[in-house]
Amino acid sequence: MTTGYLFDLDETLVTYEPSTPGIFRTACERAGVEPTPAATEAIGPGFVETFVEFEESPYVGAARAARETGLDVDPEPFAETYVETELEATHVPDGVPELLSSLPSVGVVTNGYGPVQRRKLAAVGLREHVDAVVCADDVEAFKPADEPFDAVTDAVDAAEYVMVGDHVDYDIRPAADRGYRTVFVGEASAADSLADHRVDDPSALSSVPVFPRCATGE
Ligand SMILES: [Mg+2]
Repeated sequence: MTTGYLFDLDETLVTYEPSTPGIFRTACERAGVEPTPAATEAIGPGFVETFVEFEESPYVGAARAARETGLDVDPEPFAETYVETELEATHVPDGVPELLSSLPSVGVVTNGYGPVQRRKLAAVGLREHVDAVVCADDVEAFKPADEPFDAVTDAVDAAEYVMVGDHVDYDIRPAADRGYRTVFVGEASAADSLADHRVDDPSALSSVPVFPRCATGE
């Protein structure tokens, strides 16, 4: 029986060092502006409010929200600086490329913004190991909605699926509801008891027995 392996992207296949506030600080340094607390607080809501409209880059929306607090930036070039800084902060945990390359069919299903998520996968060398990528703006819906899961399973044909992710509500619960086996990436909590397997960190994924390389003891 063929198995399709579906992965979330952020904090599942890649991690960030620094995380969002540090990325914003560095982008501000590069743009020659001071990252005020008001601007730092504004970027998250600005990103989300723009993204849910599915009309333009949420990174531009985040930059515009920061500008509205008084940050002296031009949103489009600042958004590009931010994206480049985020790409530089993106890290692939040990073992992840080897794990993906050992799997017969791999899909990525992410609530991130498609143009940036695809650049990210290519920049860190993971794109070649992935058969299909579905981002929220591709289907104009976010996990846990059915649309992203329907799209990725249409693209990665298999008799059964395993879903790997770091978010119980976006990744694990909807996948379990669809009858998939699940692997939760993150610290133990009451909510993750829903998952079939759990690892603390993406670098431990290759030890999970749902992956064939591990199951066959290779
Ligand atoms: Mg995630």
